[in-house]
Amino acid sequence: MLACLDLEGVLIPEIWIAFAEKTGIEKLRLTTRDIPDYDELMRGRLKILDENNLRLADIQKVIREIKPLEGAYDFLNWLKSELQVIILSDTFYQFAGPLMAQLDYPTLFCNELDVGENGRIADYRLRQPDGKTKAVEAFQGLNFKVVAVGDSYNDTGMLMKADAGIFFRPPEGILREFAQFPVTHQYEELKQEFRKAMVLLAQ
Ligand SMILES: [Mg+2]
Repeated sequence: MLACLDLEGVLIPEIWIAFAEKTGIEKLRLTTRDIPDYDELMRGRLKILDENNLRLADIQKVIREIKPLEGAYDFLNWLKSELQVIILSDTFYQFAGPLMAQLDYPTLFCNELDVGENGRIADYRLRQPDGKTKAVEAFQGLNFKVVAVGDSYNDTGMLMKADAGIFFRPPEGILREFAQFPVTHQYEELKQEFRKAMVLLAQ
């Protein structure tokens, strides 16, 4: 059995929102909830970075001040003692690095930024579209059962594909559309749902 966790909103704050707050650039607060087309959203973000002459190093400096969500470190340690854990995220390795250090470097599958020699972020590369769902599908192809946790629309594909899906602190709107998944708000509740799923899937 494997645990697949979303990263932002589940273990760490939303990176772009935290970055918007640190820099005061209001337009960087937009997420997939505001602009559903991920490519359009990312193009917009890269343009804003250029306009403000922000390089990768500037962003990493801000990200280094971001802390994991309260209780995330202990929760992840507990989960690692129970199951193999893989984090499936839409973020980029170059952003996640400093936060992964604070979580003792869990296994992370995410995406890559194209960074020029001067440190300018020229582009981004998704390994594949809908990578979270495809990863879960691939693990199931290796005869693993998967318990998946996410908080947002970009997680619903993997939650549906998984053998058990759990929401952690989702926005209101999503709950009516995906009422089949248990909803948790605290790590203790999330542990309980994991325990239930592990019993159920062991049968
Ligand atoms: Mg998330």
